[in-house]
Amino acid sequence: MSFLAQLKAYEEFDFKDYFDHVTDTMIFESIEKKTLDWYDFLNLLSPRAKQHLEALARRAHEVTVQHFGYTISLYLPIYVSNYCSSHCLYCGFSKQNRIKRNKLSLEEVEIEAQEIAKTGIKHILFLTGESKKITPLSYLIDVAKILRRHFAQVAIEVAPMDEKEYHQLFEAGVDALTVYQEVYDKTIYQQVHISGEKTNYQYRLDAPERGAKAGFRNINIGPLFGLGEILPEAFFGGLHAKYLSDKYLECEVGLSLPRINEAEGGFQPLSLLDDTTFVQIMCAYRLFLPRADINISTRETAEFRDNLLKICATKFSAGSKTEVGGYTKAKTEPQFEISDARDTTHVIERIQSMGYEPVYKNWEGI
Ligand code: SF4
Repeated sequence: MSFLAQLKAYEEFDFKDYFDHVTDTMIFESIEKKTLDWYDFLNLLSPRAKQHLEALARRAHEVTVQHFGYTISLYLPIYVSNYCSSHCLYCGFSKQNRIKRNKLSLEEVEIEAQEIAKTGIKHILFLTGESKKITPLSYLIDVAKILRRHFAQVAIEVAPMDEKEYHQLFEAGVDALTVYQEVYDKTIYQQVHISGEKTNYQYRLDAPERGAKAGFRNINIGPLFGLGEILPEAFFGGLHAKYLSDKYLECEVGLSLPRINEAEGGFQPLSLLDDTTFVQIMCAYRLFLPRADINISTRETAEFRDNLLKICATKFSAGSKTEVGGYTKAKTEPQFEISDARDTTHVIERIQSMGYEPVYKNWEGI
């Protein structure tokens, strides 16, 4: 059964009615359970669970320390192109936006890679806008080979591909895939994805699974908060991660909680994820999926990220640049405005001052 079939089973599910019947006892039982089912997960996501956030956060912290110790994995993104052939209402790279476009030459990728490598961080995520014409598979393979010479783990966040294409990237040294569904609600998906390949809901939904089949060891997913209704979107993101980790045991599945930030085009979020609910969702993810990495990007402020670290986050980008060529000579505007503008050294010092160990590398492809 594909994940789409699982999603369909919830088409008629009345979240409000379920949440209205959640009691304090149900929440406490779910917090204490060792293995949570999807009812427990819903209990922890319920509006009522917010009243017990302290107990939820305490337990989420315990489980995190049990599985990850006091560590935080570091990575950096590198934007190699901002060309895009799709029109998505919420994104600065949309083909509708009149922004300066650029794509790094392979020589420029090499220079950026050398600069990033100076930070000591050994995990890199390379991103492009979604244009198969300007950044075809052959270009992505060449970029991957360059990055692989400088970094122990190379991840991609590019337009979804067929399993065969993913496999070619895997062979070129890519071992991790990030692909956000953005919004699981199909109606809203169609409303915000106006034209281009990204309008294909199912092709995107199945992309993480094709990546797992192609051999990627690490898959990172999540909804983009600000599009669909917050709690159902959080639920479907968690369910998707559970589906993948149950089916692909050799694969580590991680979750991100990106919230919409300011971007070119002035998109106003359709729903708002406040900080308290953000923490609640993060803790619910931790208890539902104890081994999943929880990744917090520089979209969030420095102070908020530092607080999340103490609860159950396990993965940080540090000193990110979201412009093409951002680490040497920025060639474009950023994809979105970052909120934590600290450089890598400052983030690392802060992590250490809180008693955590920054992890530069926990994987070597052989
Ligand atoms: S979200 Fe992706 S596909 Fe959509 S406009 Fe931005 S880069 Fe292009």
